[in-house]
Amino acid sequence: MSLINENFLELQESYLFSTVAKKVAKFAEEHPDKKIIKLGIGDVTRPIAKACIEAMHKAVDELGTEEGFRGYGPEQGYDFLRNAIVENDYKARGIDISSDEVFVSDGAKCDCGNIVDIFAKDNVVAITDPVYPVYLDTNVMAGRSGKFNKEKQVYENIVYLPVTAQNNFEPELPKQKVDLIYLCFPNNPTGTVLTKEQLKKWVDYAKENNSIILYDAAYEAFITEKNIPHSIYEVEGAKDVAIEFKSYSKTAGFTGVRCAYLVIPKTVKGYTKTGEKIELNKLWNRRTCTKFNGVSYIVQRAAEATYSKEGKKEIKANIEYYLENAKIIREGLIKAGYEVYGGVNSPYIWLKVPGNMTSWEFFDKLLAEKNIVGTPGSGFGPHGEGYFRLTAFGTRENSIEAIKRI
Ligand code: PLP
Repeated sequence: MSLINENFLELQESYLFSTVAKKVAKFAEEHPDKKIIKLGIGDVTRPIAKACIEAMHKAVDELGTEEGFRGYGPEQGYDFLRNAIVENDYKARGIDISSDEVFVSDGAKCDCGNIVDIFAKDNVVAITDPVYPVYLDTNVMAGRSGKFNKEKQVYENIVYLPVTAQNNFEPELPKQKVDLIYLCFPNNPTGTVLTKEQLKKWVDYAKENNSIILYDAAYEAFITEKNIPHSIYEVEGAKDVAIEFKSYSKTAGFTGVRCAYLVIPKTVKGYTKTGEKIELNKLWNRRTCTKFNGVSYIVQRAAEATYSKEGKKEIKANIEYYLENAKIIREGLIKAGYEVYGGVNSPYIWLKVPGNMTSWEFFDKLLAEKNIVGTPGSGFGPHGEGYFRLTAFGTRENSIEAIKRI
Protein backbone atom coordinates (compact mmCIF):
# COMPACT_ATOMS: atom_id res chain seq x y z
CA MET A 1 0.00 0.00 0.00
CA SER A 2 1.43 3.34 -0.98
CA LEU A 3 0.87 5.85 1.78
CA ILE A 4 0.58 9.47 0.75
CA ASN A 5 2.09 12.54 2.32
CA GLU A 6 -1.00 13.46 4.33
CA ASN A 7 0.27 16.97 4.91
CA PHE A 8 -1.08 17.71 1.45
CA LEU A 9 -4.58 17.10 2.79
CA GLU A 10 -4.09 20.03 5.17
CA LEU A 11 -3.70 22.44 2.22
CA GLN A 12 -6.64 24.76 1.73
CA GLU A 13 -7.94 24.98 -1.81
CA SER A 14 -6.85 28.25 -3.29
CA TYR A 15 -9.88 29.53 -5.13
CA LEU A 16 -8.43 32.99 -5.62
CA PHE A 17 -7.28 33.12 -9.23
CA SER A 18 -9.68 30.47 -10.49
CA THR A 19 -12.64 32.30 -8.94
CA VAL A 20 -11.41 35.57 -10.43
CA ALA A 21 -11.11 33.91 -13.86
CA LYS A 22 -14.58 32.34 -13.60
CA LYS A 23 -16.25 35.59 -12.56
CA VAL A 24 -14.51 37.51 -15.35
CA ALA A 25 -15.46 34.90 -17.97
CA LYS A 26 -19.10 34.98 -16.85
CA PHE A 27 -19.21 38.77 -16.95
CA ALA A 28 -17.58 38.86 -20.42
CA GLU A 29 -20.12 36.37 -21.73
CA GLU A 30 -23.05 38.35 -20.35
CA HIS A 31 -21.64 41.71 -21.48
CA PRO A 32 -19.83 41.12 -24.78
CA ASP A 33 -19.89 44.86 -25.54
CA LYS A 34 -17.87 45.83 -22.43
CA LYS A 35 -14.09 46.30 -22.58
CA ILE A 36 -12.69 44.67 -19.46
CA ILE A 37 -9.39 45.99 -18.09
CA LYS A 38 -7.37 43.38 -16.22
CA LEU A 39 -5.17 44.74 -13.45
CA GLY A 40 -5.25 41.56 -11.42
CA ILE A 41 -2.40 39.44 -12.65
CA GLY A 42 1.19 39.59 -11.41
CA ASP A 43 2.71 38.81 -14.81
CA VAL A 44 4.69 41.26 -16.89
CA THR A 45 3.69 42.44 -20.36
CA ARG A 46 6.68 44.34 -21.82
CA PRO A 47 8.85 42.44 -24.34
CA ILE A 48 12.19 41.11 -23.12
CA ALA A 49 15.17 43.45 -23.59
CA LYS A 50 16.91 43.11 -26.97
CA ALA A 51 20.26 42.54 -25.27
CA CYS A 52 18.84 39.39 -23.64
CA ILE A 53 17.21 38.18 -26.84
CA GLU A 54 20.48 38.62 -28.75
CA ALA A 55 22.39 36.76 -26.04
CA MET A 56 19.93 33.86 -26.31
CA HIS A 57 20.25 33.72 -30.12
CA LYS A 58 24.01 33.71 -29.82
CA ALA A 59 23.92 30.93 -27.22
CA VAL A 60 21.63 28.84 -29.41
CA ASP A 61 24.05 29.16 -32.33
CA GLU A 62 27.00 28.25 -30.12
CA LEU A 63 25.32 25.02 -29.03
CA GLY A 64 25.12 23.98 -32.69
CA THR A 65 28.89 24.03 -33.12
CA GLU A 66 31.54 21.46 -32.18
CA GLU A 67 33.44 23.90 -29.99
CA GLY A 68 30.40 25.64 -28.50
CA PHE A 69 28.31 22.58 -27.60
CA ARG A 70 27.50 22.18 -23.91
CA GLY A 71 25.75 19.37 -22.13
CA TYR A 72 25.03 19.36 -18.41
CA GLY A 73 26.25 22.57 -16.82
CA PRO A 74 27.22 23.09 -13.20
CA GLU A 75 24.18 22.49 -10.97
CA GLN A 76 24.82 25.77 -9.14
CA GLY A 77 25.02 27.86 -12.32
CA TYR A 78 27.78 28.87 -14.72
CA ASP A 79 30.62 30.97 -13.33
CA PHE A 80 29.98 33.71 -15.89
CA LEU A 81 26.53 34.34 -14.37
CA ARG A 82 27.46 33.78 -10.73
CA ASN A 83 30.35 36.23 -11.13
CA ALA A 84 28.12 38.79 -12.89
CA ILE A 85 25.62 38.52 -10.00
CA VAL A 86 28.34 39.04 -7.41
CA GLU A 87 29.77 42.05 -9.26
CA ASN A 88 26.52 43.81 -10.16
CA ASP A 89 24.02 42.92 -7.47
CA TYR A 90 26.39 42.77 -4.50
CA LYS A 91 29.88 44.28 -4.94
CA ALA A 92 28.38 47.35 -6.64
CA ARG A 93 26.33 47.88 -3.44
CA GLY A 94 29.33 47.35 -1.20
CA ILE A 95 28.27 43.82 -0.20
CA ASP A 96 30.85 41.09 -0.01
CA ILE A 97 29.32 37.88 -1.39
CA SER A 98 31.41 35.22 -3.11
CA SER A 99 30.26 33.38 -6.22
CA ASP A 100 30.02 30.01 -4.41
CA GLU A 101 27.41 31.58 -2.14
CA VAL A 102 25.15 32.14 -5.19
CA PHE A 103 22.93 29.38 -6.62
CA VAL A 104 21.29 29.97 -10.00
CA SER A 105 17.83 28.42 -10.43
CA ASP A 106 14.77 28.35 -12.65
CA GLY A 107 12.68 30.54 -10.38
CA ALA A 108 12.28 32.15 -7.00
CA LYS A 109 9.03 30.24 -6.58
CA CYS A 110 10.93 26.93 -6.73
CA ASP A 111 13.68 28.28 -4.46
CA CYS A 112 11.23 29.57 -1.84
CA GLY A 113 9.43 26.25 -2.00
CA ASN A 114 12.47 23.97 -2.06
CA ILE A 115 14.42 25.67 0.70
CA VAL A 116 12.20 23.98 3.30
CA ASP A 117 14.02 20.70 2.45
CA ILE A 118 17.05 21.67 4.51
CA PHE A 119 15.13 22.54 7.68
CA ALA A 120 13.75 20.18 10.32
CA LYS A 121 10.03 19.70 10.68
CA ASP A 122 10.00 21.04 14.23
CA ASN A 123 10.94 24.61 13.27
CA VAL A 124 8.39 27.29 14.15
CA VAL A 125 7.61 29.34 11.04
CA ALA A 126 6.56 32.99 10.97
CA ILE A 127 5.03 34.62 7.91
CA THR A 128 3.74 38.11 7.36
CA ASP A 129 0.03 38.29 6.60
CA PRO A 130 -1.07 38.97 3.84
CA VAL A 131 1.73 37.55 1.70
CA TYR A 132 2.75 35.56 -1.38
CA PRO A 133 1.07 32.19 -0.66
CA VAL A 134 4.03 29.93 -1.55
CA TYR A 135 5.75 30.31 1.85
CA LEU A 136 2.74 29.06 3.75
CA ASP A 137 1.71 26.22 1.44
CA THR A 138 5.20 24.74 1.15
CA ASN A 139 5.44 24.60 4.93
CA VAL A 140 2.02 22.96 5.11
CA MET A 141 3.28 20.32 2.65
CA ALA A 142 6.36 19.82 4.82
CA GLY A 143 4.21 19.21 7.90
CA ARG A 144 5.08 22.35 9.87
CA SER A 145 1.67 23.99 9.93
CA GLY A 146 -0.54 21.89 12.19
CA LYS A 147 -4.29 21.88 11.59
CA PHE A 148 -6.23 24.60 9.83
CA ASN A 149 -8.67 26.59 11.95
CA LYS A 150 -11.56 27.28 9.58
CA GLU A 151 -13.14 29.91 11.78
CA LYS A 152 -9.98 31.99 12.15
CA GLN A 153 -8.63 31.00 8.71
CA VAL A 154 -5.19 30.24 10.17
CA TYR A 155 -2.99 27.19 10.81
CA GLU A 156 -2.45 26.42 14.48
CA ASN A 157 1.38 26.14 14.39
CA ILE A 158 2.14 29.05 12.07
CA VAL A 159 2.94 32.44 13.56
CA TYR A 160 1.15 35.10 11.52
CA LEU A 161 2.60 38.60 11.55
CA PRO A 162 -0.12 41.03 10.45
CA VAL A 163 0.88 43.83 8.08
CA THR A 164 -1.95 46.32 7.76
CA ALA A 165 -2.49 50.08 7.77
CA GLN A 166 -2.78 49.83 11.56
CA ASN A 167 0.91 49.03 11.98
CA ASN A 168 1.90 51.01 8.91
CA PHE A 169 2.74 47.72 7.16
CA GLU A 170 5.67 47.08 9.49
CA PRO A 171 5.34 43.60 11.01
CA GLU A 172 5.85 43.45 14.75
CA LEU A 173 8.54 41.16 16.12
CA PRO A 174 6.94 37.92 17.32
CA LYS A 175 6.25 37.66 21.04
CA GLN A 176 7.27 34.02 21.02
CA LYS A 177 10.47 32.46 19.69
CA VAL A 178 10.31 31.56 16.00
CA ASP A 179 12.92 29.72 13.95
CA LEU A 180 12.20 30.55 10.30
CA ILE A 181 10.98 34.01 9.32
CA TYR A 182 9.72 34.80 5.82
CA LEU A 183 10.05 38.43 4.85
CA CYS A 184 9.22 39.78 1.39
CA PHE A 185 10.08 43.38 0.53
CA PRO A 186 9.00 45.16 -1.61
CA ASN A 187 5.99 43.17 -0.55
CA ASN A 188 3.60 41.20 -2.66
CA PRO A 189 0.70 42.04 -2.33
CA THR A 190 0.89 45.28 -0.29
CA GLY A 191 3.62 46.98 -2.34
CA THR A 192 5.13 48.33 0.89
CA VAL A 193 8.80 48.30 1.95
CA LEU A 194 10.95 48.36 5.09
CA THR A 195 13.85 50.73 5.67
CA LYS A 196 17.28 49.50 6.68
CA GLU A 197 16.59 50.44 10.30
CA GLN A 198 13.31 48.52 10.30
CA LEU A 199 14.97 45.46 8.78
CA LYS A 200 17.81 45.70 11.29
CA LYS A 201 15.32 44.85 14.08
CA TRP A 202 14.62 41.56 12.31
CA VAL A 203 18.29 40.77 11.82
CA ASP A 204 18.90 41.47 15.51
CA TYR A 205 15.94 39.28 16.48
CA ALA A 206 17.24 36.45 14.29
CA LYS A 207 20.69 36.73 15.85
CA GLU A 208 19.32 36.69 19.40
CA ASN A 209 17.07 33.70 18.72
CA ASN A 210 19.31 31.73 16.33
CA SER A 211 16.58 32.03 13.69
CA ILE A 212 16.94 32.26 9.93
CA ILE A 213 15.38 35.00 7.79
CA LEU A 214 14.20 33.90 4.35
CA TYR A 215 14.24 37.18 2.47
CA ASP A 216 12.37 37.40 -0.83
CA ALA A 217 13.60 40.39 -2.83
CA ALA A 218 11.90 39.45 -6.12
CA TYR A 219 10.70 43.07 -6.57
CA GLU A 220 13.94 44.78 -5.58
CA ALA A 221 14.34 46.42 -9.01
CA PHE A 222 11.24 48.54 -8.38
CA ILE A 223 12.72 50.36 -5.39
CA THR A 224 12.91 54.09 -6.07
CA GLU A 225 13.46 55.58 -2.62
CA LYS A 226 16.78 55.98 -0.83
CA ASN A 227 17.40 54.09 2.41
CA ILE A 228 15.32 51.14 1.20
CA PRO A 229 17.69 48.17 0.97
CA HIS A 230 17.86 46.30 -2.33
CA SER A 231 19.40 43.36 -0.51
CA ILE A 232 19.05 42.29 3.10
CA TYR A 233 22.85 42.06 3.21
CA GLU A 234 22.94 45.86 3.20
CA VAL A 235 21.86 45.46 6.82
CA GLU A 236 24.67 44.87 9.28
CA GLY A 237 24.77 41.31 10.57
CA ALA A 238 22.40 39.89 7.93
CA LYS A 239 25.13 37.73 6.43
CA ASP A 240 24.97 35.58 9.57
CA VAL A 241 21.23 34.96 9.54
CA ALA A 242 19.66 35.54 6.12
CA ILE A 243 19.07 33.64 2.91
CA GLU A 244 18.10 35.89 0.00
CA PHE A 245 15.91 35.09 -3.02
CA LYS A 246 16.13 37.11 -6.22
CA SER A 247 14.50 36.65 -9.60
CA TYR A 248 14.84 37.92 -13.16
CA SER A 249 11.08 37.46 -13.62
CA LYS A 250 9.82 40.91 -12.70
CA THR A 251 13.18 42.63 -13.12
CA ALA A 252 13.81 41.57 -16.72
CA GLY A 253 10.52 40.08 -17.90
CA PHE A 254 11.72 36.48 -17.47
CA THR A 255 8.44 35.10 -16.10
CA GLY A 256 8.36 32.77 -19.11
CA VAL A 257 12.12 32.45 -19.68
CA ARG A 258 12.69 31.33 -16.04
CA CYS A 259 15.80 32.35 -14.15
CA ALA A 260 16.46 33.33 -10.56
CA TYR A 261 19.03 32.83 -7.85
CA LEU A 262 19.39 32.48 -4.15
CA VAL A 263 22.24 33.49 -1.88
CA ILE A 264 23.35 31.55 1.18
CA PRO A 265 26.42 33.10 2.77
CA LYS A 266 28.72 30.51 4.33
CA THR A 267 28.35 32.34 7.62
CA VAL A 268 24.65 31.34 7.86
CA LYS A 269 24.41 28.33 10.15
CA GLY A 270 21.71 26.01 11.36
CA TYR A 271 21.87 23.62 14.29
CA THR A 272 21.67 19.89 14.86
CA LYS A 273 19.58 18.64 17.81
CA THR A 274 22.81 18.35 19.79
CA GLY A 275 23.64 21.98 19.08
CA GLU A 276 26.32 21.51 16.45
CA LYS A 277 26.48 24.39 13.94
CA ILE A 278 26.15 23.44 10.28
CA GLU A 279 26.70 25.64 7.22
CA LEU A 280 23.40 25.93 5.35
CA ASN A 281 25.34 26.65 2.14
CA LYS A 282 26.75 23.11 2.28
CA LEU A 283 23.34 21.54 2.79
CA TRP A 284 21.80 23.53 -0.04
CA ASN A 285 24.71 22.69 -2.33
CA ARG A 286 24.20 19.00 -1.57
CA ARG A 287 20.49 19.27 -2.21
CA THR A 288 21.05 21.15 -5.45
CA CYS A 289 23.54 18.58 -6.77
CA THR A 290 21.14 15.75 -5.94
CA LYS A 291 17.86 17.20 -7.16
CA PHE A 292 18.71 19.76 -9.85
CA ASN A 293 20.66 19.71 -13.11
CA GLY A 294 20.99 23.43 -13.59
CA VAL A 295 19.37 26.16 -15.66
CA SER A 296 19.86 25.97 -19.41
CA TYR A 297 22.96 27.61 -20.87
CA ILE A 298 20.79 29.74 -23.17
CA VAL A 299 18.80 31.18 -20.29
CA GLN A 300 21.88 31.85 -18.17
CA ARG A 301 23.42 33.79 -21.06
CA ALA A 302 20.21 35.84 -21.23
CA ALA A 303 20.42 36.51 -17.49
CA GLU A 304 24.06 37.54 -17.88
CA ALA A 305 23.01 40.03 -20.58
CA THR A 306 20.76 41.83 -18.07
CA TYR A 307 24.02 43.18 -16.61
CA SER A 308 25.42 44.46 -19.93
CA LYS A 309 25.33 48.20 -20.59
CA GLU A 310 22.55 47.86 -23.16
CA GLY A 311 20.69 45.30 -21.07
CA LYS A 312 20.70 47.55 -18.00
CA LYS A 313 19.43 50.48 -20.05
CA GLU A 314 16.54 48.57 -21.61
CA ILE A 315 15.53 46.91 -18.36
CA LYS A 316 15.54 50.26 -16.57
CA ALA A 317 13.22 51.65 -19.24
CA ASN A 318 10.76 48.76 -18.75
CA ILE A 319 10.79 49.14 -14.97
CA GLU A 320 10.21 52.88 -15.36
CA TYR A 321 7.28 52.14 -17.64
CA TYR A 322 5.64 49.97 -14.97
CA LEU A 323 6.48 52.46 -12.23
CA GLU A 324 4.83 55.25 -14.22
CA ASN A 325 1.72 53.04 -14.53
CA ALA A 326 1.88 52.52 -10.76
CA LYS A 327 2.08 56.29 -10.23
CA ILE A 328 -0.90 56.91 -12.50
CA ILE A 329 -2.98 54.28 -10.70
CA ARG A 330 -1.87 55.33 -7.25
CA GLU A 331 -2.40 59.07 -7.73
CA GLY A 332 -5.66 58.53 -9.58
CA LEU A 333 -7.03 56.44 -6.74
CA ILE A 334 -5.96 58.99 -4.14
CA LYS A 335 -7.71 61.72 -6.14
CA ALA A 336 -10.82 59.55 -6.26
CA GLY A 337 -10.73 59.43 -2.45
CA TYR A 338 -9.26 55.97 -1.85
CA GLU A 339 -6.84 55.05 0.93
CA VAL A 340 -3.86 53.72 -1.05
CA TYR A 341 -0.56 52.00 -0.20
CA GLY A 342 2.38 50.73 -2.24
CA GLY A 343 2.97 51.69 -5.86
CA VAL A 344 6.08 53.79 -5.11
CA ASN A 345 8.74 51.11 -4.71
CA SER A 346 6.62 48.38 -6.22
CA PRO A 347 4.39 47.45 -9.16
CA TYR A 348 1.59 46.66 -6.69
CA ILE A 349 -1.01 49.11 -5.44
CA TRP A 350 -2.88 48.07 -2.31
CA LEU A 351 -6.07 49.92 -1.57
CA LYS A 352 -8.43 49.92 1.37
CA VAL A 353 -11.84 48.74 0.29
CA PRO A 354 -14.33 51.56 0.98
CA GLY A 355 -17.09 51.24 3.57
CA ASN A 356 -17.70 47.88 5.13
CA MET A 357 -17.44 45.89 1.92
CA THR A 358 -15.40 42.69 1.85
CA SER A 359 -12.59 42.30 -0.68
CA TRP A 360 -14.81 40.05 -2.82
CA GLU A 361 -17.77 42.43 -2.68
CA PHE A 362 -15.48 45.19 -3.93
CA PHE A 363 -14.18 42.89 -6.67
CA ASP A 364 -17.76 42.30 -7.88
CA LYS A 365 -18.62 45.99 -7.75
CA LEU A 366 -15.50 47.08 -9.64
CA LEU A 367 -16.09 44.46 -12.32
CA ALA A 368 -19.80 45.22 -12.70
CA GLU A 369 -19.63 49.01 -12.59
CA LYS A 370 -16.19 49.86 -14.00
CA ASN A 371 -15.33 46.62 -15.84
CA ILE A 372 -11.98 46.49 -14.05
CA VAL A 373 -10.43 43.32 -12.64
CA GLY A 374 -8.21 43.35 -9.55
CA THR A 375 -7.34 40.81 -6.85
CA PRO A 376 -9.24 40.57 -3.55
CA GLY A 377 -6.86 41.02 -0.62
CA SER A 378 -8.38 38.18 1.40
CA GLY A 379 -6.82 35.74 -1.09
CA PHE A 380 -3.38 36.57 0.34
CA GLY A 381 -4.20 35.79 3.97
CA PRO A 382 -6.77 36.72 6.64
CA HIS A 383 -5.31 40.19 7.22
CA GLY A 384 -5.74 40.95 3.51
CA GLU A 385 -9.49 41.13 4.07
CA GLY A 386 -10.77 44.64 3.45
CA TYR A 387 -7.99 45.37 0.94
CA PHE A 388 -7.61 45.02 -2.81
CA ARG A 389 -4.57 44.67 -5.13
CA LEU A 390 -4.13 46.36 -8.49
CA THR A 391 -1.01 45.84 -10.57
CA ALA A 392 1.00 48.20 -12.76
CA PHE A 393 2.01 45.41 -15.15
CA GLY A 394 -0.67 46.33 -17.71
CA THR A 395 -0.29 48.73 -20.61
CA ARG A 396 -0.10 52.52 -20.14
CA GLU A 397 -3.31 52.92 -22.09
CA ASN A 398 -5.21 50.51 -19.82
CA SER A 399 -3.80 52.02 -16.64
CA ILE A 400 -4.98 55.48 -17.72
CA GLU A 401 -8.35 54.19 -18.88
CA ALA A 402 -8.91 52.28 -15.62
CA ILE A 403 -8.28 55.40 -13.57
CA LYS A 404 -10.58 57.46 -15.79
CA ARG A 405 -13.34 54.96 -15.15
CA ILE A 406 -12.75 54.89 -11.39
N1 PLP B 1 8.39 35.86 -4.99
C1 PLP B 1 7.36 36.70 -5.03
C2 PLP B 1 7.12 37.59 -3.86
C3 PLP B 1 6.50 36.75 -6.13
O1 PLP B 1 5.46 37.58 -6.14
C4 PLP B 1 6.75 35.89 -7.23
C5 PLP B 1 5.88 35.88 -8.41
O2 PLP B 1 4.85 36.44 -8.51
C6 PLP B 1 7.83 35.03 -7.14
C7 PLP B 1 8.64 35.03 -6.03
C8 PLP B 1 8.10 34.05 -8.24
O3 PLP B 1 9.21 34.36 -8.97
P1 PLP B 1 9.71 33.41 -10.15
O4 PLP B 1 8.99 33.81 -11.39
O5 PLP B 1 11.18 33.69 -10.20
O6 PLP B 1 9.43 31.99 -9.79
